[in-house]
Amino acid sequence: MAVVSNLLARARLAMPGGVSSPVRAFGAVRGDPPFVARGSGAEIFDVDGRAYVDLLGSWGPLILGHAHPAVIEAVERAARDGLSFGATCPAEVELAEAVLRRFPFADKVRFVSTGTEAVMSAVRLARGFTKRQRIVKFEGCYHGHCDALMVKGGSGLATFGVASSAGVPAEVVAMTEVLPLDDEAAVEELFARRGSEIASVVIEPLPANAGLLVQRREFLRTLRRLTREHGALLHFDEVISGFRVAPGGMAQLSGIDPDIVTLGKILGGGMPVGAYLARDEIMQLVAPLGPVYQAGTLSGNPVAMAAGIATLRELDRPGTYEQLERLGAALEKRVATSLRDAGIEHSLSRVGSILGLWMQKSPAPRAFHAIDGRAAERYARLHPLLLAEGVWMAPSYFEVAFISLAHTAEHVERVGQGLDRALQKLAVLVP
Ligand code: PMP
Repeated sequence: MAVVSNLLARARLAMPGGVSSPVRAFGAVRGDPPFVARGSGAEIFDVDGRAYVDLLGSWGPLILGHAHPAVIEAVERAARDGLSFGATCPAEVELAEAVLRRFPFADKVRFVSTGTEAVMSAVRLARGFTKRQRIVKFEGCYHGHCDALMVKGGSGLATFGVASSAGVPAEVVAMTEVLPLDDEAAVEELFARRGSEIASVVIEPLPANAGLLVQRREFLRTLRRLTREHGALLHFDEVISGFRVAPGGMAQLSGIDPDIVTLGKILGGGMPVGAYLARDEIMQLVAPLGPVYQAGTLSGNPVAMAAGIATLRELDRPGTYEQLERLGAALEKRVATSLRDAGIEHSLSRVGSILGLWMQKSPAPRAFHAIDGRAAERYARLHPLLLAEGVWMAPSYFEVAFISLAHTAEHVERVGQGLDRALQKLAVLVP
């Protein structure tokens, strides 16, 4: 414990909140964040040697689990040849082709280093292509911390209950319209009013930043139809769903071709990689071919590309998505049993290996306003009890659980038993 408290004090002296990204500070749950020393398969280990079954997977990238041998080997091999060249390397071409094979609607892809950067660049590209200003986003969706989309987002923003961020000019967000999810009429109405001004509609086609708000296919189809009718672009932000729900993400699963897709997380297999992709007509506007400027010193970094290639190669093995579905279903069932036995009203949302836990009765919400935020307090008390039982879940109610190909039925049972015990203790705290 001494190691942790010392590290925590030093971290808080040296970094705002002691972290490099806000939710890691555990501000939305009780207790202090453990410091992670290492990960292996489905588990992480803190600096005191305690093991946890990891249901967060670095917030999504680790679909193979921690330190997968094929990924580590690829990274080590690439690193020995040098960390960065600032010139195009063969691995970039290989990963670009691998991405385009999985997202056949697109002709070209540009690599960046984070999901935020991908979204920010895709917004600029949509504006450059359509010569329009207005961007539409949805309440409860998070697209990184790009200024134009820092409006009533999910993730850290929902967690801390703020509608936007300080430091974002009002003029910038004045060009962003925020609509409720799951509401065709609201989108119809906006397009009827401002259709000719809209550059793009940005959506997480499987919103996973305010719990898991599974959308009806009909809603996504309506977005596709209206954007087409009005000359706007449909931008699927698949930073979470890309490669996770299917090789070609929600674009594949929904059968809807968007105009732009943004990727991150799994694409880099734990290394910093993001990307945006579209058909040629749009991508030819990107510098150096066209006038939409976007660049990056470390973009297409050879070590990160190697991690991405190795990750996609492993995912290509037969049966991987079936395995994720099987284990996701097992986790859903086990968590439901725990909650039911503890007498807690709940509903669960799940798509494959992503699980959303709602401490409110069915039906599971599909829009941000349908979330009963009162459960967040109960979750805040449950979270440290779960950690003490060796279960690592997101430090916020407004997040989801991820499982990986390294998880097994035994991990699911460890989670179930940990949850059973944590819920018993919670009942004593909050009768
Ligand atoms: N888009 C979505 C859908 C995300 O979930 C995230 C991050 N959770 C981002 C964009 C931003 O990605 P990054 O944190 O890599 O900047």
